[in-house]
Amino acid sequence: MRRRTGCGRFLALVLIALVGLGLISVLCRENGLLLVLLGQPLPDFPTVAPYTPWPTPPVAAAFDFPLLPAEDYGPYVQGVTGPLAVDTRYDAQNPSLGDRANCFRDAAGQPVPFSRLYHAGVDLFGLDEDGRVVWRVVTHAPVHAVADGVVVFTMDAGQEGQVIGIEHRLPEGGAIYSVYWHVSHVQVREGQPVVRGQIIGVVEDMGLNSHLHWEMRTFRDGSTIFPPGTAGARGGCNRQVAGVGYTWDDDPLRAHPDYYGYRDPTAFVAGR
Ligand SMILES: [Zn+2]
Repeated sequence: MRRRTGCGRFLALVLIALVGLGLISVLCRENGLLLVLLGQPLPDFPTVAPYTPWPTPPVAAAFDFPLLPAEDYGPYVQGVTGPLAVDTRYDAQNPSLGDRANCFRDAAGQPVPFSRLYHAGVDLFGLDEDGRVVWRVVTHAPVHAVADGVVVFTMDAGQEGQVIGIEHRLPEGGAIYSVYWHVSHVQVREGQPVVRGQIIGVVEDMGLNSHLHWEMRTFRDGSTIFPPGTAGARGGCNRQVAGVGYTWDDDPLRAHPDYYGYRDPTAFVAGR
């Protein structure tokens, strides 16, 4: 035969393509590239046993982190994984949004830059063994309730995903609330009891910026997620829900995050 037929050439190309795709697939699994491209596969969501809504929350005997194993997840670390500004007023992490002022307005309608806001909580990304952020791998990671408690709200925050708030009773008395932003596939509803470690949803796919925003707060003043007078209560941010992890108060005396009971979530859980 002097030359291949057209059909033979086509079949040879298909064969080469299939072998190539197989190789790429194996390499991606080996290197975790599929995780980077697609995020994690969805977990098997447990079925929920029947329950009576709004039970009195049990005392939370122990607290754990919302993404497990905890060492696989963490925030930006300045000088290691990328930009993380530290809010020197409150010694708190503040993602480096700088003086951008495209979201929040004060009571007079003037823009309030991010640098004047307090980032209440911590943004958890996937980390490699050296503690460097690996973009996107946290996508679809299961989000676990940090302690026994009762779901007190779920909220659709548009492009910011779903928000879940859980009330936990403390052994020493009083309560603390864990709040989880940028969640999808929510598995719980308001009034539902949850146990520590229960999967309540997954981290929403936000592309390279996928992360879990996690807060712990005592709601010392105000019983809603956005107390009146704060930036989050005032409306939209790029037509999204304002206050995604940021707070600020018109009254300077109430601007301190402690006024609203915000805690360093990592330190709180680590200290339990
Ligand atoms: Zn955040």
